[in-house]
Amino acid sequence: MTMSPLKMTKKILIIGSGFSSISAATYLADKGYDVTVFEKNSSFGGRARKFVANGFTFDMGPSWYWMPDVFEKYFNDFGKSVSDFYNLKKLDPAYRVYFGKNDYIEIEDSLEKISETFEKIEKGASKNLLKFMAEAKINYSVAMEKVVYKPGKSILELVTPGTIRRLRYFTTNIKSEVSRYFKNKKLRQLMEFPVLFLGAKPENTPAFYNIMNHADFGLGTWFPEKGGMYKVVESMINLAKEKGVKFKSEHNVEEIIVSEKKVKGVISNGKEFSADIVISGADYNHTEKLIPNHLKNYDDSFWDKKVFAPSSLLFYLGLNKKVKKLPHHNLFFDVDMNDHASEIYDNPKWPESPLFYLNFPSLSDKSMAPDGCENCFILIPIAPDLEDKEEIRERYLNIVLKRIEDISGEKISDNIIFKKSFCVNDFIDDYNSYKGNAYGLANTLFQTSIFKPKMKSKKIKGLYFTGQLTVPGPGVPPSLISGKIVSDVVMQDFLY
Ligand SMILES: Cc1cc2nc3c(=O)[nH]c(=O)nc-3n(C[C@H](O)[C@H](O)[C@H](O)COP(=O)(O)OP(=O)(O)OC[C@H]3O[C@@H](n4cnc5c(N)ncnc54)[C@H](O)[C@@H]3O)c2cc1C
Repeated sequence: MTMSPLKMTKKILIIGSGFSSISAATYLADKGYDVTVFEKNSSFGGRARKFVANGFTFDMGPSWYWMPDVFEKYFNDFGKSVSDFYNLKKLDPAYRVYFGKNDYIEIEDSLEKISETFEKIEKGASKNLLKFMAEAKINYSVAMEKVVYKPGKSILELVTPGTIRRLRYFTTNIKSEVSRYFKNKKLRQLMEFPVLFLGAKPENTPAFYNIMNHADFGLGTWFPEKGGMYKVVESMINLAKEKGVKFKSEHNVEEIIVSEKKVKGVISNGKEFSADIVISGADYNHTEKLIPNHLKNYDDSFWDKKVFAPSSLLFYLGLNKKVKKLPHHNLFFDVDMNDHASEIYDNPKWPESPLFYLNFPSLSDKSMAPDGCENCFILIPIAPDLEDKEEIRERYLNIVLKRIEDISGEKISDNIIFKKSFCVNDFIDDYNSYKGNAYGLANTLFQTSIFKPKMKSKKIKGLYFTGQLTVPGPGVPPSLISGKIVSDVVMQDFLY
């Protein structure tokens, strides 16, 4: 690669080591910039860190590997392929959804098999599913080719023949769209589930996000072998290092140094580090606390009005038994989805009867638990900013363990030999997360694309933002994309 000597001299400091930061770092180092990542924690990966305890390996955050094409594109951009770094296994079943005691639907690994399952539940649903999915696939292509890799600077970015033809999908929501195709309540819930990843209620999420249905049933659920989700973090860091990126853990950025409205560097651990450009992959609101108040892009009232994606109560459990009755990914939708959604978004409080998600990664990768054992992860979505106390966490653990045992018949409570929880206070302490949110800003219509917080500081030259609070939004694939977009924006501004 040829590069101008001037570009070589540009020093970029990236705050945080989440997916978006690692992605941005790799793209920029590849183009010859001098890039260093400062991470406050002792390990890298942000919300996707891992920890090892008593022989169990836990992925701390993401566990669903969806949209494999986005990961492939990332590695391809550097002349590599996913398979140069890790092998992917397609899970079958992809996941199981419980609606009551011994009442569940399993989503298998192909659209053909899934449509057969749908037909058994509702006559005609197979045909309708294929119709729905054909539309979702078109939207996915439009999104990938025309929308998600754009910086969200201007509405004109969205005006393309492809998007104009799909305009209808921005004027209706996913709940109404699903109800046009399916009558059965369980099928409707299955079709609404994928957009929960985007952090808002299905009725507040544009139908265009049926792209998530294509990601789910169309592209499938995958698992990175020999290491789980952290394998992706490791692989990306290895590639970034190959490109020259330097990674520094335990480097909390306490201040972004600004002089005459230009970035000059940062202060970390009490020391000054100079930089021409600072990109922050840390939560946006926190980053703006590191600069003078009058130079912020957004004040606190802006953030207060935003719809945040949920926080979560998480449990990492080590079991001294092998699990026999449950597959890798399980969703417990055996209670009213609307009640729980309302307790997250409309009237924030600890839920009466929560929906929750349970996984056992060691079913797919034995190395993640000692012999004869299983590792277990439980996620209960909750509103951000809730009171977080040990006794509340414990109460919910007992509630969900009882539900798991009653509904699936798999006994767990007496087999727990390791237990760690993570909730609102930890999201704040560990990641400087705004109100303890887990997945950033929800992708409602007015928080999509051009409505997302901007990637570039309006008042400070050389300061940029990336990650799940910026375009395109929450999730691992969007964070990879966010890193690419911000690197393009930086390169446009600092290309000589
Ligand atoms: C429990 C959970 C489950 C999830 N499940 C999935 C899933 O299954 N599939 C999926 O696709 N997505 C999932 N997500 C979402 C996905 O993990 C995130 O969208 C993505 O990892 C966010 O990456 P990011 O780069 O925006 O930031 P983050 O991962 O939040 O990284 C920000 C980093 O900045 C660091 N930082 C903050 N302040 C400072 C400072 N002052 N100085 C230095 N460093 C600082 C933080 O420590 C952190 O490491 C999940 C998220 C959570 C929390």
